[in-house]
Order: sequence, then C-alpha cells, then structure tokens
Amino acid sequence: MKKINASLFILIAFMFFNVFAGENAVTQTSTIDALLKGLYEGDVTLGDMRKYGNFGIGTVDFLDGELLLFEGTFYNVKSSGAVVSPPDDTKTPFCSVATFNPEKSVTLEKGIDFKRFCSFLDRELPSLNYFYAVKIQGTFKILKTRSVPFQTKPYQPLVEVVKTQPLFNFENVKGVLIGFRCPVFVKGINVPGYHLHFLSDDKKGGGHLFDFTIEDAELQYCRIQEFKMLLPSTKDFSKADFSANMTEALKKVECAK
Ligand SMILES: [Zn+2]
Repeated sequence: MKKINASLFILIAFMFFNVFAGENAVTQTSTIDALLKGLYEGDVTLGDMRKYGNFGIGTVDFLDGELLLFEGTFYNVKSSGAVVSPPDDTKTPFCSVATFNPEKSVTLEKGIDFKRFCSFLDRELPSLNYFYAVKIQGTFKILKTRSVPFQTKPYQPLVEVVKTQPLFNFENVKGVLIGFRCPVFVKGINVPGYHLHFLSDDKKGGGHLFDFTIEDAELQYCRIQEFKMLLPSTKDFSKADFSANMTEALKKVECAK
C-alpha cells in the first residue's frame, strides 16, 4: 500500500511540475551545419517529431521545400510555391519542434520591417540566452520568402542550392509566421537569432522568411530553457567532418541576397 501511495505521489508531483513549471523543450534533429554541408537525408519522420510538440520549422528529406508545424499540423512549402500536407512517414534531415505556450502578446507597430522587429524583440526580451518560440499572426503589407528545390545525389552544399532558390513576394497577405529566436551559442547547431517560416491563412503560400512590412499583426512568444538533440544515425552524418566554421555560409543561406 505504501508503495502505491509513493508512486501516486510521484505521479501527482510530476503532473504538478509539468503544469506549473511549464516544462517545454526545443527538440531538433541533426544540426544546421549538417544541412549546410548537404546532408539532406534524415532518419526521423514527421510523425516522430510531432511527439515533441505542436510548433516548429525545418525541411524534409531531399531538401524538398520549407516545413512548418503549426497547431500540430505539418505544412510543406514546395519550390513551386504550393503548400502540401506531407504524410507522417516523410523523413526530415533538419527540424526543430516545441510546444507553443504563449506567455506574452504584443501588438506590433504598423510599418515595421523584419530588421526593426528583430531589434524591437531583442530589447523586449529580458535575456537573449534562452530559446524563444515566436509567432506573428496578422496582415503583412509586404512579405518576402523563399523555398528550396528537391535535390538528387551527389548533393551540393546548401550555399550552392540557394543560388537558384525561388523567391515569393506577397502583398497585403494574411497569415502566420512561426519559428524560433535561438541564443548565439547554438552556432553550428541551429540558427543564432531569428529563423521564421510563413504560412498564408488560405494555406496556398509560404516559405522561409526574408523580410516583411507589418500592416496589422500580433506577436506572441514563449521562453524555453530546455534543448534536446536527436542526432541521426545515418552514414553521412556519422562520417561528416564538422570542424569547419560555417558562419559565412549560414549568412548567405538565411538572408536575402
Ligand atoms: Zn528556414
């Protein structure tokens, strides 16, 4: 009887901790440097990644477009610009997932662009040394994204692939931006600073965000202090040399030309 009571106590304590301490983690597969090097095949599925949350961004195997996990549903923005719902057994070579529990909502100033938004939120956040899940929902006067095309072997590094990336320009578009602000010390592992992906409300467009001008939008975010990595057991990953500093390549890949 005593044993049962002890187990029950531990279970209740665990539930209490989860609810009131807001336990949450950013869980990612592989590393940004692996993706930059052209490791475009992973060993976890989107169904696997969904176990770690309802919110996230990444790509799918063979670099077949940009990926979002929004309210528990995956969306894949192909290089054609079309948005599809990828099957759960689709694999991903790079993806970061968390549970979105917004702590704060802020109405964004009309007319601000992505650069000014980044400075604004950096000043607003009490510390830049944690992960933040970031969501901006509303109307954007202008919004610029890109996607990436399906790759075949031998894989080119990402910096080569993005030289021919399709760009998408939206005007007066309603939709949602989701992603993360990662601390500077994730260099090589994830993207330091802001990394956001877009999905239009009509689910007909999206992609990796380059820039926007806010018309009328609400920012929500939550701080996350736990970070988990699922390293692929693929041969490419186990044999890769990650000693080079890829910071310059990352800048070219993440930002607009
Ligand atoms: Zn991206």
